[in-house]
Amino acid sequence: MVGLLAALAFWTSGPRQPLLAEGERPNVVIIFADDLGYGDLGAYGHPTIRTPHLDRMAAEGQRWTSFYSQAPVCSPSRAALLTGRIHLRSGMFGRRQGVFFQDSHHGLPDGEITLAEALGDLGYATGIVGKWHLGHQPEYRPMRHGFDSWFGIPYSNDMDWQVPPGGEARRAAMFSPSIDYWHVPLMRDDVELERPADQTTITRRYAAEAVRFIREHRDAPFFLYVPHTMPHVPLFRSEAFADRSAAGRYGDVIEEIDWSVGQILDTLREEGLGERTLVIFSSDNGPWLSYRQHGGSAGPLRQGKGTTWEGGMRVPGIFWWPETIEPGVIREIGATTDLFTTIVPLAGGTVPDDRPLDGVDLSPVLFGTGPSLRDSMAFYRMGELYAYRRGPYKVHLVTQGRYGIGTERTEHDPPLLFHLGHDPGERYDLSAVRPDVVEDLLDAVESHRSGMTVAEPLFDVRGER
Ligand code: MG
Repeated sequence: MVGLLAALAFWTSGPRQPLLAEGERPNVVIIFADDLGYGDLGAYGHPTIRTPHLDRMAAEGQRWTSFYSQAPVCSPSRAALLTGRIHLRSGMFGRRQGVFFQDSHHGLPDGEITLAEALGDLGYATGIVGKWHLGHQPEYRPMRHGFDSWFGIPYSNDMDWQVPPGGEARRAAMFSPSIDYWHVPLMRDDVELERPADQTTITRRYAAEAVRFIREHRDAPFFLYVPHTMPHVPLFRSEAFADRSAAGRYGDVIEEIDWSVGQILDTLREEGLGERTLVIFSSDNGPWLSYRQHGGSAGPLRQGKGTTWEGGMRVPGIFWWPETIEPGVIREIGATTDLFTTIVPLAGGTVPDDRPLDGVDLSPVLFGTGPSLRDSMAFYRMGELYAYRRGPYKVHLVTQGRYGIGTERTEHDPPLLFHLGHDPGERYDLSAVRPDVVEDLLDAVESHRSGMTVAEPLFDVRGER
């Protein structure tokens, strides 16, 4: 009897391993919101936005509280997620331009290995439903980077302006309920379906496409990447979600995204795929604060999108895989850069050894078998190292706000020092009282820099091609 109880105790509390049979590979779904802040979900403390599906996903899985996107804006963040490499290595940055635009010439280089390519080589069906933003010229689109199918938009929903640049007219358009100010196309594979994309129904249509993809591929391992168009400003939601949220139009948009997450999780449950599918939810960068109530919230974190303050890059990170992931709240450090290096081994592959990778394998934390292999995080802006975190401490070598909030570029010598455990809002500079910690971190910065290879920046070339 005692033996049986001991066995039961081990069964209920011991480390978990995937329930899959030997040689079986999990499906993978990555849902990636655009400009959703750390504080925008119920599970992360938002007082009025209702996110029951994401909250349930977090309760059944792991909710990470120190999870980072690799960059504070769209294109570089997506490059790092799909390649497991800091974006400087692939040239996915600019000295003058932060992202790709509708007149950009370049895209993610062919030599990069994306998660879709790695999983495709392992026999996975691969699909992207959503915003690409890694180069819209034909030779850089998702189909050239390992995806079998694509339904979505090539770059941000506020590009291809139909009003002249600058001034009040443009700002007013960003708050307008009309889709007519942006000439953004909606693509299916390499074919333009409509232009401008009807953004009011885009989240609903993404959900339908994602559900269809899952049902179509229920019998084979699949990788589905769902980088949402929303809640990037301008904000749109379908009729069913209009004026429903206590948090206004931004809340409506998040609640529709939450509904779409529910559609995906319900489909996996209905198809009996829940126990063989890893689902991850995160965001490409922090909230776009200059759009005020149309931007989200970084919760207790400082600043937002475009900055290397915590609010710019610390984002929700939710991992769901029933019966396999050890449920709980994870306070260790993880990053979107770690998804490639975590997922490829789970799919039975090995990560490439012909190039430097910056991700770690998060499996020990996901399965409750050990601590996180990541203890540091490098914060780059426009190709320059602005800040560096190791353990609870973070130094800022340079700070600069964005989009009208504290935009002056300031170099710090000595660097600012914050203890993110005691002070997640980065309010109390400790550099004068802990010069020893500053010294240690500067050594770590030097060592990080010496291992960093930097390609030619590809964002700056724009105009007639
Ligand atoms: Mg973004």
